[in-house]
Amino acid sequence: MTANAGETLEFKTELKQLLHLITHSLYSNKKIVLRELVSNASDAIHKLRFNSLDSGDLLGDDKDFRIVIDPDPVAGTLTIRDNGIGMSRQAVIENLGTVARSGTKAFLEKVREAGEAKTRPDLIGQFGVGFYSSYMIADTVEVITRQAGDPVDAATRWTSDGQGEFTVVATEKAGRGTDVILHLKDSEKKEFTNTYELREIVRQFSDFLETPIYLVEMRTPEEEEEDEPAEGEEAKAEETEEEKPEKAPPVPVRTEVQVNTQKALWLRPKSEVTPEEYQGFYQQIGQDMNKPARVIHYAAEGRHEYRVLLFVPSERPYWFDMSEREHGPRLYIQRVLIMEHCKELLPRYLRFVTGLVDCSDLPLNISREILQHNDTLEAIRKDLIREIFKALRDLRESELPAYETFFKGFGTTLKEGVREDHENREKVADLLLYPSLNTPVGEHTTLERYIAAMPEGQKDIYYLTGDSDAMLRASPKLEAYRAKGRDVLFMIDAVDEYILPSLSTFKGKSLRSADSEKAAEEVASPPPEPGEFAPLLDHLKKELTEVSDVRLSSRLIDSPACLVTPSGGMSGHLERLLDRMGQGDRPKTKRILELNAGHAAVLGIKKIFEANAEDVRVAANARLLVDQAMLADGSPVEDLAGMAKRLGDLIARDAR
Ligand code: ADP
Repeated sequence: MTANAGETLEFKTELKQLLHLITHSLYSNKKIVLRELVSNASDAIHKLRFNSLDSGDLLGDDKDFRIVIDPDPVAGTLTIRDNGIGMSRQAVIENLGTVARSGTKAFLEKVREAGEAKTRPDLIGQFGVGFYSSYMIADTVEVITRQAGDPVDAATRWTSDGQGEFTVVATEKAGRGTDVILHLKDSEKKEFTNTYELREIVRQFSDFLETPIYLVEMRTPEEEEEDEPAEGEEAKAEETEEEKPEKAPPVPVRTEVQVNTQKALWLRPKSEVTPEEYQGFYQQIGQDMNKPARVIHYAAEGRHEYRVLLFVPSERPYWFDMSEREHGPRLYIQRVLIMEHCKELLPRYLRFVTGLVDCSDLPLNISREILQHNDTLEAIRKDLIREIFKALRDLRESELPAYETFFKGFGTTLKEGVREDHENREKVADLLLYPSLNTPVGEHTTLERYIAAMPEGQKDIYYLTGDSDAMLRASPKLEAYRAKGRDVLFMIDAVDEYILPSLSTFKGKSLRSADSEKAAEEVASPPPEPGEFAPLLDHLKKELTEVSDVRLSSRLIDSPACLVTPSGGMSGHLERLLDRMGQGDRPKTKRILELNAGHAAVLGIKKIFEANAEDVRVAANARLLVDQAMLADGSPVEDLAGMAKRLGDLIARDAR
């Protein structure tokens, strides 16, 4: 191929879909285009800065990193220029011809599955589709790029109208890095070449970027002096003032004016950062358009010196947990971005927290292997966990509704910590919210509040697992608890079953399922003696092979029967979960049928039995009690046809 040979290539399928969406359905906040492109430029500079730590000659004479935003109202273009790492021809094809990042894939999945692109234009902002967002404001995009270290003639020009194809041509480029030239749509030309607007947009999200960002403006030399008076030139300025009347009116010239103050947000004292600045920064690195629920910002001194800026999100963004994303805050070492996600800094169950740690104690050329067993990082990690717990507790105490929203989105994620973080098991458990029998519908309690409200004589914390709050509230098993004023936590998350084995105690109290034998003994003692029911119970034990035992209950008040789990058995809820997950091939736990000796239905069966032990109605009616107890638990009745027949027979008998 000759130096100038061009090539026309097709975008990968999913990228075509994305571009179609961007140009046809999404009318979201167009300002994000600049955010995305400047952030790409800044990444490219970070990469080069990082690579050049080992081989300084990569930089050559061009040592001042910079990003330039260059609008041209006459040509109708907007150029974003950086002197970062640049791209080779191959990299251009790969990076700009395919969907490179998992976040973008997740975005596409979301849009496809929900068909929400039209109704939720903010989606694109939440996901950030990077470079491709350019097509929201441009008809054609041109990228001219040269990889750092490559010769002048090894540059590449990539062009596309975003309709399905792109071309790449070899070209020359004086400096290294990348120019992204947006050929603006007619409708966008005015706004996106207006320097005042551009400055506002860029300042919003880039003020803290450590690379200087310049905006090209047309200024007269005077204007420039007003802006940045150069030291020691005042006398000269006065002289020119005197001569001025004789000169022709000043001609505006292209001038690069720095837009950002470059103050890394996390290096500034907390008291000097405004909520808007925090939010702008959070949007940038958290890919979330909501306000953070809590900002954790501090400088640690002492054995290790580092600065922390973390954000607790207020609600779950669409993309959260949609694909295997890397987790962990950014790691900076002396303001240089070392890693986008340092998973050594936070456990996985806190993956909803975003932000950064800037540490001055680590060597800049630290390797991933060293990171894995590093005492400094280990100490920072402990500290971050403690601070996050503190922030979450504080949110719960001071803004319960906000905490509830947070918990609705991330509670299941947080719960993983009960199982995975042995050291902090109780602290995580302390943050959990549960509905409960004594808590009004829609509200929650905590383990600690539960304990505080325990009446004298109650030793354990009771819970019941199930599919929904409403179903558990109506469960016959809780009748005695309700009558005695004992509270029962409702565990209705699938993940609750996963963490329960690790949550056998909290603050010295055992957690006990309300349908376990032990709990029933405590709540409704003494257990009733079979007495005159003994022959019936023996008979039913033989007839009802689907249950492991039949006995009288002490926990029922209004209902005739319930099914309880024998000690050591698997709860009905867990069995149903496993069945749903396709793990139904295991022996089912047979439950114990408990009967309410005071209930008319049970007394009726007893009467029939005593008149004629062989009467078919004895087993049929008792089996109906099993069926309805299954239904009350939310468990499927296996023999539905049989149940329908039994019910029909019963109604027919009643009519006779
Ligand atoms: P993201 O930046 O999130 O990875 P983009 O779609 O914005 O996704 O960009 C895709 C890839 O193209 C980037 O990962 C990067 O490798 C490359 N790229 C984009 N802009 C630049 C740039 N200004 N300089 C160097 N590489 C770039």
